[in-house]
Amino acid sequence: MTEPNALDVVDLTAAYGRIEVLHGVTFSVPRGSVVALLGPNGAGKSTTLRCISGQLEPTAGHLHIGGHHLNGAAADRLARAGLCTIPEGRGIFPNLSVEENLRLFAFTTANSDQEIREITYTQFPRLQERRSQLAGRLSGGEQQMLAMARALATSPAILMLDELSMGLAPKIVENLYGIVADIARTGVSVLVVEQFARRALAVAQYGVVMAGGRVTAVGEPADIQDELSAAYLGGAA
Ligand code: ATP
Repeated sequence: MTEPNALDVVDLTAAYGRIEVLHGVTFSVPRGSVVALLGPNGAGKSTTLRCISGQLEPTAGHLHIGGHHLNGAAADRLARAGLCTIPEGRGIFPNLSVEENLRLFAFTTANSDQEIREITYTQFPRLQERRSQLAGRLSGGEQQMLAMARALATSPAILMLDELSMGLAPKIVENLYGIVADIARTGVSVLVVEQFARRALAVAQYGVVMAGGRVTAVGEPADIQDELSAAYLGGAA
């Protein structure tokens, strides 16, 4: 029997008020793979992510996580189905220390405080050095590491990362994508949303190109270059 995909998005439409901005979005994240959701500003990437993570109710279409139909499910149900979302802006608590942030992760996983610290500090020695610092005082790259530590600690079935590279230096972005690849090697399926395609495609097995609220191409990185160029040149056309 074939295993269900980690994520299936089927003919999704969504609107803000009366203005429809997603017009039938369909793609899948096969189990154990990294998929990059790409497209220029305003293409509909964040809206798609908002629908998957339960923040915005789609006007039509279906979402399946690990084969389970999860339209309109609340955040806790999605978390139990194995979805971990790291939003743009990182979703950490800036007024708590690194160690206090890690302690909070223990509420959403079977791992103990101690195990979470071990997993985190092995992958990110830099966070151990800064464990007493307030998260809000960390550099952008360190904040992103802390956000990703949540994914490592909770071993989700599917991890969604929004604009990982936002505001970060190229070298730090490269390092973070290395960590995405490491996380994927542990069996976690990953959906990365990126405006800047090159880094994401270096670690992704598949790319999904969006423009104007539609998917214009799905395929292996080498096979979607033309559609990718067209999406960026044509803006939201
Ligand atoms: P970006 O990288 O800028 O976030 P994106 O590909 O994620 O781009 P979305 O943010 O999903 O694109 O935007 C898709 C469309 O929806 C755009 O036309 C945008 O102007 C519109 N939009 C996004 N958020 C809202 C909102 N809160 N209210 C109304 N319209 C919105």
